[in-house]
Formats: sequence, C-alpha cells, structure tokens
Amino acid sequence: MVPVQHNYNLKDAHTFHMDVHASLFFEVIGERSLDQLRSNKLLREKPWVILGGGSNVLFTENVTDPVVKISIPGISVRECGSNTIMVKVGAGVNWHELVLWSLDHGYSGLENLSLIPGQCGAAPMQNIGAYGVELVQVFESLDAFEISTGLMKTFYRDECAFGYRTSIFKTELKNKFIITSITLRLHRNRSDLNLDYGDIQNVLNDTGIRNPTPRDVSNAVIKIRQSKLPDPNQIGNAGSFFKNPEIDHHLFKELKRTFPEIPGYAVGTAKVKVPAGWLIDKLGLKGYRNGDAGVHDKQALVLVNHGSANGHQILAIAHHIQDRVQNTYGILLEPEVNIYP
Ligand SMILES: Cc1cc2nc3c(=O)[nH]c(=O)nc-3n(C[C@H](O)[C@H](O)[C@H](O)COP(=O)(O)OP(=O)(O)OC[C@H]3O[C@@H](n4cnc5c(N)ncnc54)[C@H](O)[C@@H]3O)c2cc1C
Repeated sequence: MVPVQHNYNLKDAHTFHMDVHASLFFEVIGERSLDQLRSNKLLREKPWVILGGGSNVLFTENVTDPVVKISIPGISVRECGSNTIMVKVGAGVNWHELVLWSLDHGYSGLENLSLIPGQCGAAPMQNIGAYGVELVQVFESLDAFEISTGLMKTFYRDECAFGYRTSIFKTELKNKFIITSITLRLHRNRSDLNLDYGDIQNVLNDTGIRNPTPRDVSNAVIKIRQSKLPDPNQIGNAGSFFKNPEIDHHLFKELKRTFPEIPGYAVGTAKVKVPAGWLIDKLGLKGYRNGDAGVHDKQALVLVNHGSANGHQILAIAHHIQDRVQNTYGILLEPEVNIYP
C-alpha cells in the first residue's frame, strides 16, 4: 500500500516555501501504486492535487484535497538511430538531472533548457521553454494514467495541443491525467545549436569559445540563469509569475506612441508578444515589497517570498501588478503559475 501521511507540511515540497499543510499526502513511486490509490477510500470522493517538484505552484491555503506527489524514477534509452535516440524518462526524474544525463551521454537538444527546476512529468504541462527552445521540439509522446478510469493512455505530440506555456493538460484535460513518463527524441553529433537567444553568444564569446559543444551552451545558459534568477532555495519563488502577453498589432502600435521603447516580437501576422517583465519594471515595481511578499529586485516577472509571506499576500501583489498593468497599458496579465485552490 502507498503510505498516507496526515497533516503533511508542504513547505519543502514547493519552491515558494510557504507553511501550508496537506490534510492527506501520498507519494507515488510506480504506476502500480496509482491503481492502489484509486481504490483507497480516502481518495475516492475528492479531486487529487498532483505535485511534481512544486516549482510552478502557489498554495494560498492549507490543502484539503489529497496531494499526490509523483516520484516515478527511471531513464531508459528506447531506440537508437544513427542521428537520434529516443529516451523514456519517469515523471519523477528531476528535469536538470535529465539535461545533465543527456550531456554526459553525448546527446543534445536539451542544453538550452538547462537548470529549469521541477520534474520531467510536469514539463509537458506548460511546454517548458527557455532560451529559444521549447519542450515540444524534442517531445515524442507521454504515458498518462487517467484518474477516473485507472487506464493508461499514450499521447503523441499532435494530441497534446502544445502552445506557449500551455498544453491540453493545462486546459481541456486539466486534473484528469497523471503523466507517468515522457519520451523525448534527442540528437547525436548535432552541430546546429541554438545560440541566437538572449546572451548565450555573448557569454560564449567572453569565455573564448568559438565552436561550442552542447555542454558549452548548457554552461552558458546556467551562468546566465544564475545571474538573473533567484535561487528558490535561498528565496522562495516559482519563476515567472505571469506569461508574456500576446497583444493585437493595433494595440502595440498605440502603445508604441506612448512608450516608444516598448519591446515586442511578432507572433504570426496578427499578434505581438510583449515581455511582461518590461511592463512591470516600467511601472517601477521591481523590488516592490509588502511585508515578506514582493517583486524580485533583479527580475520584475518573479514574485518572491522573503521569509514568512503566505499565499494570499503573494496573490495580493499579483493582483496589484495586474491592476496597474491593465490600467496603464490595457493589457491583462495571465498567471503562468498554478494557483491553489
Ligand atoms: C527559479 C525558477 C525558474 C523557472 N524557469 C522556468 C523556465 O525557464 N521555463 C519554464 O517553462 N518554466 C520555468 N519555471 C517553472 C517550473 O520550473 C516549470 O513549470 C516546471 O516544469 C514545473 O515542474 P514541477 O515538477 O515543479 O511542477 P509542479 O510545480 O509540481 O506542478 C506544476 C503543474 O503541473 C502539474 N503536474 C506536476 N506533475 C504532474 C504529473 N506527473 N502529471 C500531471 N500533472 C502534473 C501540477 O498539478 C501543477 O498544476 C521556473 C521555476 C522557477 C522556480
């Protein structure tokens, strides 16, 4: 049987590190234990709160629904071609450990996604992305357990409705499936590395690297991330709190008149993506603080827990930012973080 823990403190199970408790907490290390959970009478009536590494969640109060933490291990190579390999990874494997494993084995494709916190099972949820690369670019399929039926189902790339920080598991199928493993296609001997985004090329130049390997790119990404993003072990946070909004060309043109320096990147022909961090920073909110809840002083998109903030206080800061952004630019910021309840 999967052991149940009562009144479990979630402080170390999520990266905002708030003192919230789960009435019931279960840790799952294999697909078979999921079946056992379905027959547990404590879990039958209530929806489950699925938890990976807790790096993209905000708990605003104690959790009365059962929390199911997914810790399924394992990395196995499924198929080897001359240029690519398929690797199947358990949902509980730490994402950055997978990136390091791939580099150690000479496989590329994940280097730009180095140091993203969290577990592999959560990676498809919001199609994790960084430095010009998204999960979808290496994703083949995933296996998932349907909570209502107990059946396993395989989802291939085209069935996942991946988009910018979203997938079918965050929308239509929210809370219906538990991802138990993901299968990715990685490259061998690949030379066309993605160096165009952010400061990657500058960092490589500074270190005198002319022909970078995937490991060099990973090291550059790690260096940039460590200089820009707060370490959740030192200051509680969940990374970018909001998504970068995609607005109409029309509105972007209007905003450009008032804010000539506003950055924007065309998305297709109709939309422009605007960095939410810029919008917030421009309002002077970088470093803003109310008690122990605040906006990070180097990265306006990251909300932080300076020590003893609770979820409501973080949410109040988020609402304050949303109001100011809406009133100033006419843009509604959408949270990227999953907020409970
Ligand atoms: C400092 C910092 C930097 C970050 N940088 C980035 C970045 O560059 N790019 C990026 O995309 N994200 C980033 N994030 C966000 C976060 O790391 C990712 O979203 C990550 O994939 C979350 O993984 P997790 O295991 O912690 O998920 P959790 O926070 O535990 O869960 C996130 C959501 O997924 C669901 N979930 C988790 N596991 C499963 C599963 N096995 N089956 C079904 N549902 C599941 C949960 O119910 C929840 O809704 C950052 C976060 C931090 C703290």
